Amino acid sequence: MTFSWTPHRFSGGALALDVANSVILRFDPAQSIDRFADPANLDAFPEAATRLCAERQDHALKALPFGRTEGLIQLREAIDRYFRAEAQAASSPVLLAGLLEEIARALRAGEPGDLDFETAQSALRLISPSRAGALKICPNCEWLFLDRSKNRSRAWCDMAVCGNRVKARLHYRKKKLEKDAS
Ligand SMILES: [Zn+2]
Repeated sequence: MTFSWTPHRFSGGALALDVANSVILRFDPAQSIDRFADPANLDAFPEAATRLCAERQDHALKALPFGRTEGLIQLREAIDRYFRAEAQAASSPVLLAGLLEEIARALRAGEPGDLDFETAQSALRLISPSRAGALKICPNCEWLFLDRSKNRSRAWCDMAVCGNRVKARLHYRKKKLEKDAS
């Protein structure tokens, strides 16, 4: 099946988180997939993000200039490490410093509209303490997302995908328990 950047893949609510979420099943090394490992996917990402990312960009995103993939991946991993820890109230000055270093590098390397540059800007905006409490980890797929709802009640990265999947699983388990018990 060919891969495409569907709206679900932009459930993060911020460009930096959508970039972090380009790794599927990060917690399971046996099944984990890095969508950016395929250059065609990475090339198609900026255009899709311009259309589908919930965080509006000041500039339409351009394809990543040649030779900057490794830097973007390092930035992505620093984003995931820091904000994943932050969402679990376990971030540290060391993680923050690591992220800030990657942000600085991307800002020096790029210009407005470049994927790494704009991802770095997005991460900088997310570091703001006013975001505390809005940053969450989806209990189904473990993607990072920003809960923009007023009462911070959003449970899933995407209710239509992860919410329903978990509901179906619970339903199946309940039915199975009933069957086993009878
Ligand atoms: Zn999810």
